[in-house]
Amino acid sequence: MKALDTAQLQALDREHHLHPFTDFKQLGEEGTRVIERAEGIYLWDSNGNKMLDAMAGLWCVNIGYGRKELAEVAYEQMQQLPFYNAFFKTTHPPAIDLAKLISEVTPAHMNHVFFCGSGSEANDTVFRMVRRYWDLKGKPNKKTFISRINAYHGSTVAGASLGGMGYMHEQGDLPIPGIVHIAQPYWFKEGGDLSPEEFGIKAAQALEEKILELGEDSVAAFIAEPIQGAGGVIVPPETYWPEIKRILDKYDILLVVDEVICGFGRTGHWFGSDYYGLKPDLMPIAKGLSSGYLPIGGVVVGERVAETLIEEGGDFNHGYTYSGHPVSAAVAAANIRILRDEGIVDRVREETGPYLQKRWRELADHPLVGEVRGVGLVGALELTNDKAARTRFDDKGSTGTLCRDFCFNNGLVMRATGDTMIISPPLVITKEEIDELVEKARYCLDLTA
Ligand code: PLP
Repeated sequence: MKALDTAQLQALDREHHLHPFTDFKQLGEEGTRVIERAEGIYLWDSNGNKMLDAMAGLWCVNIGYGRKELAEVAYEQMQQLPFYNAFFKTTHPPAIDLAKLISEVTPAHMNHVFFCGSGSEANDTVFRMVRRYWDLKGKPNKKTFISRINAYHGSTVAGASLGGMGYMHEQGDLPIPGIVHIAQPYWFKEGGDLSPEEFGIKAAQALEEKILELGEDSVAAFIAEPIQGAGGVIVPPETYWPEIKRILDKYDILLVVDEVICGFGRTGHWFGSDYYGLKPDLMPIAKGLSSGYLPIGGVVVGERVAETLIEEGGDFNHGYTYSGHPVSAAVAAANIRILRDEGIVDRVREETGPYLQKRWRELADHPLVGEVRGVGLVGALELTNDKAARTRFDDKGSTGTLCRDFCFNNGLVMRATGDTMIISPPLVITKEEIDELVEKARYCLDLTA
């Protein structure tokens, strides 16, 4: 396409492009921002504006933009073998290499991976794999998944059903049967008069209540993000995960930890499961797996489920044309080597994560900010009109939208989920760039106030 100016690009976009999670008509009226290039942690739009991308794209560009090695790996692999499938007893070197690398960085009991194209496909795979597992174990009644309100597990029918977003369920008559949702560990919004620690226990006990209500013989798995990302970077109180672990140990229920956001270094550990000391049976992964350079996802499978599938399962009648796509797999493997060999995850744990959390918490003194939270390189600010009562300006998230727009227009990409402002910058961000991020965020909060 020959170079077009912004107005021409916007006009074409309006005419032909249906965007995800977007009010098409509103977009038609307001136009959209055209992002043209990126380097490190910065983006440039078609009008030449430079923006610090505090969202790493969509929580995914962990190694930062512009790593030419990945383009070279893709170029080489496309010439060598652009496509072959992993169906029907075939395989290829990039998928083998990637599967081995993943097993080296995931928890010790997890040594197998099933590939797919995205986080949503990973969770569809989880849905079928878990049910297959219980069928093989002779417990076909164990079918129900327990998830959480306000969780995000993707956009396919099973993914959106596993997720707990009411506004998604309203469209398309979701969730599908066999999926129920319990309370989330969101102290700022739902903690009432309880301390965070008391509330963490209470939120976890909702799992036990639901298991007892449904009967443990009917519950297949509990699925959760270590830290709810799209729901608003909800870092659970410290008491939450230990209590969940106690409950899961008591009943024979699988644990699915959705690592699509927390995986590949976000918390300063390879996985959120490492940070919280969890032992998942299954881990959906995507995003940071390839730093978003090419689409790829997977389900990492722990020994308990893998052994049953392999030894007793016969054919698993599930898979995608692009499961383990050779070019995506080669790029993902190169991405993991960069994260590992350049010590990027270690640096988040030891240096940039603690530094961001220290600087980010300075924003707690801002009149608009009711709570600051985060772990490693992920964080949230709760905007409030009353710090003590923890109330919102309205229930439409209009203050968050206003703040997000001020950020956009002042060189900072920060996302708003209602009145919760969230960040998840590339893991290569430096201390100086963190200073810039926090200063810009404060400036935009001032404009919003
Ligand atoms: N799981 C989690 C925790 C996510 O945050 C997302 C996407 O944001 C998904 C699954 C779905 O991933 P994808 O958009 O690649 O389908």
